[in-house]
Amino acid sequence: MKQLPRVLVVEDEPAIAELISVNLRHNGFAPTWAEDGVAAQRELDAVLPDVILLDWMLPGQSGLALARKWRSQERTRSIPILMLTARGDEPDKVAGLDAGADDYITKPFSTQELLARIRAVLRRRAPEQGAEVVIAGELTLDAATHRVSWRGQPLKVGPTEFKLLLYLMTYPERVHSRQQLLDKVWGDHVFIEERTVDVHVKRLRESLGAAASMLETVRGAGYRLAALATTPAAH
Ligand code: CA
Repeated sequence: MKQLPRVLVVEDEPAIAELISVNLRHNGFAPTWAEDGVAAQRELDAVLPDVILLDWMLPGQSGLALARKWRSQERTRSIPILMLTARGDEPDKVAGLDAGADDYITKPFSTQELLARIRAVLRRRAPEQGAEVVIAGELTLDAATHRVSWRGQPLKVGPTEFKLLLYLMTYPERVHSRQQLLDKVWGDHVFIEERTVDVHVKRLRESLGAAASMLETVRGAGYRLAALATTPAAH
């Protein structure tokens, strides 16, 4: 049986924590509630969650201090952190992201928004957790070392293009619409235009050089990585 994703909810207001927990439970997550940093640390020492929902304003250590602490520690470093902030706290949001939060969500939020954000951070983290080597045709991508090579020759690929390539190589031969790519590669950035995908595909093609022909445009549909197609011979 597949294990439900664990969510550690760090929130000092019982009513809010209860509401979040009930909604998470109804939507296939396993929430645990901690009312402050001390209780949260105790939970983390016992079992690592898949994602942490972290309230900004907490008694004792603030959410910001906790995010910074958990980011700096090896054991908790890679757990996605979603910060809960009050409306209008723009500087706080920036500080939260600086402290290592993956995203933030402003109170009051809808259940749908919360679930979408949680799924997005989980998805975004997922390819890196595999830390595996993906091979498509003569392209090799190492997710752990962030290296890409074609016929053994290293290629320089930017961070967004890398994520895009990782996704395309994970699902080769399939046609992906721009919207699907935004959803899977960009995840939580719902306001990005589809045109952005074209920009990054163009950059990725430039990075791929002679292997660029593997990345096909499918008219009216989207993009496909043709792993089986023959690429031009190296000079
Ligand atoms: Ca609070």
